[in-house]
Amino acid sequence: MNTDLYHVSVYRFNPEVDKKPYMKNYQVKASDCKGVMVLDLLEAIKQHHDPTLSFRRSCGEGVCGSDGMNINGKNGLACITPLSDLEGKVIKLRPLLSFPVVRDLIVDLSQFYKQYESVQPYLQNDTMPAKENVQSYEERKVLDGLYECILCACCTSSCPSSWWNMDKFLGPSALLWACRFIMDSRDTETMARLEDLQGLYRLFRCRGVGMCRDVCPKGLNPTQAIHDIREKMLRDAV
Ligand code: SF4
Repeated sequence: MNTDLYHVSVYRFNPEVDKKPYMKNYQVKASDCKGVMVLDLLEAIKQHHDPTLSFRRSCGEGVCGSDGMNINGKNGLACITPLSDLEGKVIKLRPLLSFPVVRDLIVDLSQFYKQYESVQPYLQNDTMPAKENVQSYEERKVLDGLYECILCACCTSSCPSSWWNMDKFLGPSALLWACRFIMDSRDTETMARLEDLQGLYRLFRCRGVGMCRDVCPKGLNPTQAIHDIREKMLRDAV
């Protein structure tokens, strides 16, 4: 998209005044955008058209994961999605699918954080030495692609198994985090972690659709992580 004027349609809903959500259209001058990303467009709307527009943002550099949203039908981070990459005449911005909307583009991520918390996303090792617990180069390498998740929720919001079973299926992000500690050579709770994922839903509700992998702004692959957990379960006969 290369234009002097951006045509934008934004999901709006303020539960205190609106009976139902609606899409509101804006025409934004490119010169009002201070940068070239979708987040700059939202800032321009807020500054020049409507100060009531609500959205989350923090670092603006794809590190904090605050501004995950649905951009022209695909989840992503507004701060690292270039406007020039977007196709079509109108840019459509909606909140992350499947989470309750708090207001406009802000969703309630309580359930998402509960899923994250439930996999105990921290190192557990009763025998940790006082100073350091050294890994070999190969052991550390195993964690590449597992530790970089920024909890933006783009993947879980894109996952059909999560849509229908948000309270029972852990979802791609939490399972990626589970994998990160299951594969960590320093963690001694591997078997307990694997056992905790048994049952019909927590892990096994994944159908391998792969939408999580396709939308992850950090290039991570939760589908592969889930597959690796299953393989480890088989190998270690949990
Ligand atoms: Fe976001 Fe990727 Fe982490 Fe999912 S795996 S929460 S898409 S960074």
